[in-house]
Amino acid sequence: MNSKKILIVDDTSTNIDILLELIGKKYEILVALDGTSALEILDKEHIDLVLLDIMMPEMDGFEVCQHIRDNKKTKEIPIIFITAKSDEKTIEEAYAIGGSDYITKPFKPLELLARIKTQLKLRTLIENLEYIASYDAMTGIYNRRKFFEIAVEIFDTSKENLFAIMIDIDKFKNVNDTYGHPVGDLVIKNIATCIKGNLCKESVFGRVGGEEFAILCHKENQKEVKEKIELLRTQVELCETFTEDGTLVKCTISEGIAMANPQTKSLDALLKIADEALYTAKGDGRNKVIFR
Ligand code: GH3
Ligand code: MG
Ligand code: MG
Repeated sequence: MNSKKILIVDDTSTNIDILLELIGKKYEILVALDGTSALEILDKEHIDLVLLDIMMPEMDGFEVCQHIRDNKKTKEIPIIFITAKSDEKTIEEAYAIGGSDYITKPFKPLELLARIKTQLKLRTLIENLEYIASYDAMTGIYNRRKFFEIAVEIFDTSKENLFAIMIDIDKFKNVNDTYGHPVGDLVIKNIATCIKGNLCKESVFGRVGGEEFAILCHKENQKEVKEKIELLRTQVELCETFTEDGTLVKCTISEGIAMANPQTKSLDALLKIADEALYTAKGDGRNKVIFR
């Protein structure tokens, strides 16, 4: 049995029985007899694909599709319309409203199976691509692009008690020069893991350069953010990486913090201030936190 979960939405139980007979042994199936309960299920469960009837009393398939597409959680779920309606206008509308595919009743069983498989495969491919486009392969944290995408959204929503932190590994070139690039990679990975492990889950954390990281977070006050960021510095100080022959490699980080205010024009402007603070930390001897 495939682990994918399919939601069948149809007001006619004989149609549901036919579909269950066809795909019930291949996929995990959930059933809804009307649009409202379909949306409730979609809200609660993780659904991989929806088979959606168009003609239903109260909420028709188009309206259900519209709700699915309007909801952040469900908007990417593949929807295959299965309907007795075969006129061109309806087919056009089904795609226009966000349907992924369309099949008319009575359908050919093997064709429907193939179409389901194609949609599930497409979705998996897109999810993999989205992952690659959002996460840094070496550290598993957000890459620069994704960090900025999320951070800009947060900055635009609420600047109150918002802090940006720029982090740079100290004298990292020495690590590469002394132990080689692969050990350097391992150090970056370990430090990223260490920082992530000490952040609350609301903080946005990304690798924004080779050995540079950035954080955007809301904190109650300056004292709290200073303590948290100082903790990262001391935890990284304790972080240990070993070379293949067992040599211990340790690194420190420098951090610059900036606090947003109503006049802060953009996320870039805020990060620039944090970067200036970081630069000061470097000038002050490194392994330091500077607040601007
Ligand atoms: P500072 O304390 O002033 O930051 O000194 P630094 O040596 O860390 O700074 P610098 O900018 O001179 O060197 C950073 C080095 O980081 C240079 C670059 O080769 C290395 N680096 C960048 N990305 C990676 C990576 O993905 N893997 C490895 N191993 N090294 C990297
Ligand atoms: Mg550095
Ligand atoms: Mg650097």
